[in-house]
Amino acid sequence: MSKVYLGIGHGGADSGAVGNDFEEKDLALAIGLACRDELQRHGITVMTSRTGGTDKTVAAKVKECNTFAPALAADIHINAGGGDGAEVYHTKNGGKGETLAANILDAIKEIGQNSRGLKTKINSSGKDYFAFIRDTAAPAVIVECAFIDNKSDLAIIDTAAEQKAFGKAIAKGFLRTLGIAYKEEETEVAKTKFKDESEIPSWALDSVKKVFDEGIMIGDDKGYFNPNENVTRAELAVALAKIAKL
Ligand SMILES: [Zn+2]
Repeated sequence: MSKVYLGIGHGGADSGAVGNDFEEKDLALAIGLACRDELQRHGITVMTSRTGGTDKTVAAKVKECNTFAPALAADIHINAGGGDGAEVYHTKNGGKGETLAANILDAIKEIGQNSRGLKTKINSSGKDYFAFIRDTAAPAVIVECAFIDNKSDLAIIDTAAEQKAFGKAIAKGFLRTLGIAYKEEETEVAKTKFKDESEIPSWALDSVKKVFDEGIMIGDDKGYFNPNENVTRAELAVALAKIAKL
């Protein structure tokens, strides 16, 4: 089964970038854990650099990642400097790292965030500047989700639901790169065990499920609820007696 390593930027005493009463470490954690959950929901084994407030150096992340030996890796950050939109860094050597970066950025664009494009950064010796990209054995990228010090950009990421959406988008980028089809989450719509469930009006479905679960009303002996049949006085008496626990 595929493995993914997620670096979660900063933590502990290192708040990362700050702006508009938000700290990078908190946003990165919420997004990173949502990404982890989504990947795990698709059967992927995920290691995260942290699950709480603790800090880890880049060197420690690289070492941990290389020991874990994932198929792919990403380090999740929030930008600062007053720009707008998301950007994803990948190795100058392209390949699967660039594919991963492109897939993550595409998925982020799909949730409405602006794109600053794919980026590479080279150091003075012509190698990849970021150790997380340069020293990891797996194809690895750095995701900068939004600018914490730009109020209008921060607005796309300043609620728990939005942070979850970002984590989910990053997970979709991984899944596409791994060739794993995205599975929609099971909706909250109530499910009954009746064969004629499709005939139960949507406005009644939740109530049908509740009265069935509580044993107040049951289906017929062939497994049908018969939602459009009339209730007899005898059946009504039984249901009322159950509700009133007589
Ligand atoms: Zn950062």
